[in-house]
Amino acid sequence: INVFFRPVEKINAVIESYPKGIAGFKRFTEIIDKAPDVKDAPNARDIGQVNGNISYKDVCFSYDRQKPVLNHINLHVSAGETVAFVGPSGAGKSTICSLLPRFYEVESGSIEIDGIDIKEITLSSLRQQIGIVQQDVFLFSGTIRENIAYGKLDATDEEIWEAARRAQLIGLIESQPDGLNTVIGERGVKLSGGQKQRLSIARMFLKNPPILILDEATSALDTETEAAIQQALMELSKGRTTLVIAHRLATIKHADRIVVVTEDGIHEEGRHEELIRQGGIYSQLHQAQFG
Ligand code: ATP
Repeated sequence: INVFFRPVEKINAVIESYPKGIAGFKRFTEIIDKAPDVKDAPNARDIGQVNGNISYKDVCFSYDRQKPVLNHINLHVSAGETVAFVGPSGAGKSTICSLLPRFYEVESGSIEIDGIDIKEITLSSLRQQIGIVQQDVFLFSGTIRENIAYGKLDATDEEIWEAARRAQLIGLIESQPDGLNTVIGERGVKLSGGQKQRLSIARMFLKNPPILILDEATSALDTETEAAIQQALMELSKGRTTLVIAHRLATIKHADRIVVVTEDGIHEEGRHEELIRQGGIYSQLHQAQFG
């Protein structure tokens, strides 16, 4: 086993990624080191597999304890539901999502998973229940096999192939002479942004968390890659509670619910057609973004 697995294993659940806005893996590790306020409560307990009902109850939050970012957010997401957060830049979409794995602590109010306050759950077992997929995925120099198996360190080859298939990665793997043993990263094959993202999706199939946070890429990918990723993400979110920090029309349209976040909080929510019909902020954003 690669030595790199060891230190990294500890923060297994969060390492695939980190909330957007915290630029770069390096900064992320710094933040982990420097986040003494987020730690296990003395009576924290491990939870097993959750159903994935999520409730934000009157949640207030600010990064600097001065300028409020979230003001009395109330939101319930049912197990298995896909909710897309939409809204202007800086409104707090990423912040709402990053409170769930407790990258930051709520200032007041609470967040519950299956009726349990997340503060009463150990960080490791909480984060084991949450998978994060995002643009700046963390890959290490090693083989494709190692990078996928990172989602489940004892995965069998069969499981790895299955995850790769569902993540639309088979084409890439089969096009390399060394297959799963292809070395990627600095000393090997350079992967495109879309390929990296699918690799992180493959990890998620192995990790198999009941709750997902998808931070969608803002940068454009070519249409074919985009479609492959969309397909993989749709498959991944099936049967899981999914929070999407949304930028893409396709995901937004497929969401069970769209939650429009503005600086004042949750402004409106509903399905795409409903919100378009209402002619509120969503329909304006939609018009501006997608024409
Ligand atoms: P975008 O669509 O641009 O990603 P967003 O709706 O996800 O925006 P957030 O990233 O949640 O918005 O940011 C909400 C506010 O909190 C912004 O004013 C932002 O500048 C601030 N903010 C975000 N991350 C941090 C941080 N790590 N430290 C301090 N302030 C932050």
